[in-house]
Amino acid sequence: PLVLVTGVTGFLAQHVVAATLKAGYRVRGTIRDGSKSSALLQKYPDNFETTVVADIASADLKQAVKGVKYILHTASPYTFNIKDGEEELLKPAINGTLNVLKAAKAEGVQKVVITSSFAAITNSQAGGPWRDYTYTERDWNPTTYEEATKPNLPPAFVYAASKKLSEEAAWKYAKENQLILILFFVSTVNPPMIYGPALQESATSPETLNTSSAAIYQLFSGKLQAIPDDRLPLFCDVRDVAKAFVLALQTDGADNMRVPLFGGAFLWKEASISYMLLITRPELKDRIVPLHTAKPAPGPIASLDNTVAKQNLGLHEFIPWKQTLSDTVDSLLALEKRW
Ligand code: NDP
Repeated sequence: PLVLVTGVTGFLAQHVVAATLKAGYRVRGTIRDGSKSSALLQKYPDNFETTVVADIASADLKQAVKGVKYILHTASPYTFNIKDGEEELLKPAINGTLNVLKAAKAEGVQKVVITSSFAAITNSQAGGPWRDYTYTERDWNPTTYEEATKPNLPPAFVYAASKKLSEEAAWKYAKENQLILILFFVSTVNPPMIYGPALQESATSPETLNTSSAAIYQLFSGKLQAIPDDRLPLFCDVRDVAKAFVLALQTDGADNMRVPLFGGAFLWKEASISYMLLITRPELKDRIVPLHTAKPAPGPIASLDNTVAKQNLGLHEFIPWKQTLSDTVDSLLALEKRW
């Protein structure tokens, strides 16, 4: 079967493409900038093709979805470097997801798995990740479109709203378009911060690194004077997220489900101490952000319930923080040699 992966240049998508090919599917990837295709075609020489989609929110996706059985939707802006949150985050995320769903429905695609986020689950009004609480697939970020379009909001808040509002729009569309006797399933995967090996060719400089990988790189880039605030101390390894996507295709366990994915919790201070400074990377000592600058955590760290992933997808094991961090740092040091 042919699987369409949207946004194949992305950090997550690289792992999703590799896992989907490995599972025996053919993959077509949408790409904004056609000049980036050849590197990907070289990387995945078999059963892989690309198609240029300049803007997932407005393009006609008829050709892109032709002959496709399943869609794995990852393309969505994840950047805090913005001037207008509504135009640069909310609209592309919401309209992109709806555009993909409409094209899927028109083509008779059977299943669309959407990359949502813990950002669509967490409740910042109740403490967000800093509370003695286990979030589940029943929890929703309460932010409305109106609240997310007020002036001068922090970009991270608007990004979180873009994930919530696009996921909400997806479920609404699914509900309105799931007719009896027609197979058309929607699933969402909801990981918190995704870390793990950054394999994307498009990271040609520190500035072009994806947002989550850049969060790790900043710890040893030598540029930070103080340990950053711990904003979202929950993670899932990118390889586990990719696994969940493939399992959502191979089984019906995630059909019409939200699937939280949780690898564990961490603090930046522990990250620096446990891995880079004291144990495995003493050579990075001089580049590491000074440890004494760490602030205490603002509260207990919330948890995220993996029951759906375990029971419905059979995803029982999650890569632990030390392994994720270690592999992330290795990949970033390898990328850095090319910069
Ligand atoms: P990247 O920035 O690496 O990937 C984003 C991808 O989306 C890129 O391929 C980008 O294309 C594409 N894209 C962005 N806007 C558009 C648009 N308007 N039209 C077409 N393509 C677009 O980030 P990630 O891989 O981390 O993110 C992938 C998905 O995972 C996103 O949906 C994100 O919200 C979600 N997510 C990420 C988490 C993380 O910690 N990384 C956590 C939870 C969810 P181009 O390369 O051309 O810019």
